[in-house]
Amino acid sequence: MPDLRFHGTRPQHTEIPRPKRGEGQWALGFNEPLNKNEQSKKDDDALNVRDRILYTYSKRGFDSIDPADLRGRFRWMGLYTQRKPGIDGGRTGSMEEEELDDRYFMLRVRSDGALLDAAAVRALGEIGRDFARDTADVTDRENIQYHWIRIEDVPAIWDRLDAAGLSSLEACGDSPRPFLGSPVAGVAVDEIIDGTSALEEIKRRYIGDPQFSNLPRKFKTALTGHPGHDVSPETNDISFVGTTHPEHGPGFDVWVGGGLSTNPMLAAKMGVWIPLEQVADVWAGIASIFRDYGYRRLRSRARLKFLVADWGIEKVREVLEKEYLGAALVSCPSPESPEGFRDHIGVHDQKDGKKYVGVAPVVGRVSGQILVDLAEVIEEFDLAGARLTAYQKIVLIGADPARVDELLDRLEDIGLSARPSQWRRNTMACTGIEFCKLAIVDTKNRARDLVAELERRFPDLDVPISVNVNGCPNACARTQVADIGLKGQLVMHEGQQVEGFQVHLGGATGLKANFGRKLRAHKVTSAGLDDYVTVVVTNFLADRTEGESFAD
Ligand code: SF4
Repeated sequence: MPDLRFHGTRPQHTEIPRPKRGEGQWALGFNEPLNKNEQSKKDDDALNVRDRILYTYSKRGFDSIDPADLRGRFRWMGLYTQRKPGIDGGRTGSMEEEELDDRYFMLRVRSDGALLDAAAVRALGEIGRDFARDTADVTDRENIQYHWIRIEDVPAIWDRLDAAGLSSLEACGDSPRPFLGSPVAGVAVDEIIDGTSALEEIKRRYIGDPQFSNLPRKFKTALTGHPGHDVSPETNDISFVGTTHPEHGPGFDVWVGGGLSTNPMLAAKMGVWIPLEQVADVWAGIASIFRDYGYRRLRSRARLKFLVADWGIEKVREVLEKEYLGAALVSCPSPESPEGFRDHIGVHDQKDGKKYVGVAPVVGRVSGQILVDLAEVIEEFDLAGARLTAYQKIVLIGADPARVDELLDRLEDIGLSARPSQWRRNTMACTGIEFCKLAIVDTKNRARDLVAELERRFPDLDVPISVNVNGCPNACARTQVADIGLKGQLVMHEGQQVEGFQVHLGGATGLKANFGRKLRAHKVTSAGLDDYVTVVVTNFLADRTEGESFAD
């Protein structure tokens, strides 16, 4: 095997001429910052803010924080100021960011697909309880997200995370964001390949590495060796997807350039086979392409998907091989995308004879206390631990088959159901106006009430219908790939602007991957959402043919 490690040296770029009007691509000689974000990143490596938090800001308090750190570099440490309470969506557009800033922070902790043992789950719960007013949301990037964090408490929180083997480093910012890993890696009976060691290797080598701390924008990674493609690989900047080569055996295909938000794009499939040991090198190669060739002039065009769309996947592969790996990749047809659930809810067989159990909080909302209780359950039932999922769920690994029924009852008691209704199972919500400064509408509470109402109106729904509730066009809860995708905006109602949603219908990932249709006439007030969904679902149920899914 040739040495394919990325050595961090800037390659020679000779084949692509510098265009007259620059997009800020470093590799083409455009090194001058073209906007204030690029200027800020050039002024000081965002990773340096860690020491200022530890030794200055946490000691001197909120008012001592340099605004360039507060609204910029703090993100590289997983910290955002949260939204000041009581400011409604209608006023957001006319307000400066400072007016929206609360003196408290949101803190995002990355799990990167790791198995969290009882001590780690307890540490996460106690942080929520002791420092975050008992908040602790499971996000669709397999993070735990807290609110109400004070700057004075950050060093103590980081100490606790460190002791548990966890971190908030580069959980936000223009950096390698938290990884999505298969929640059932290493245990599922139908797994193609266990990618755990590859994710650990990428994290060990490159998270906190200054050579990747100034990317054009966020860079999202997913990896799964499960045939169910359980990490939404279509919507990440880079995804490694388990595949089997007829001669070489199990390995990974590489998909690049997926992303939602405005201008949504599904990832392009490279059609290669790489072995487990090469994943970290290929990751570094694609991250380097993004760093060196990514567009930095306009933030709205800076995600990798725009470069991939302009280049095409063949050119991405050619540049990767020639300039960054120095070797050709093995071609292999891309794996078929499967149909069906990706969330692992319920009880399933493991290859070692034990069971894994997927449970559903309501729209990802748990609490510090629930996580502390979950740590007790992990110990009481001698489980290996818990993993978070890309669908705001939790999977418990290593259950004794003889005690599964007892385990399910205990989990139900603490608010984690392994037998959720279709509505609870398939509804996700982003952070929304409660804490997010970009939000236009409430999401978590609205979605929770929607789930309760739909459970009452359709108690026996026999088909999954996904509802993804988003507070703005940024699509953090994947607006465009849900059966019913909701994008928060203000809508007119009786001459007044009120909270509401633009509706996207019929989106999907997997075999039927496509974006939901945005129906201009389908705008609904937040207050009218229960009735709107009821009409859509009633019509679908009345018209469907046997075996027809909502996406059909
Ligand atoms: Fe905030 Fe918008 Fe993302 Fe929701 S979709 S978390 S409102 S940025």
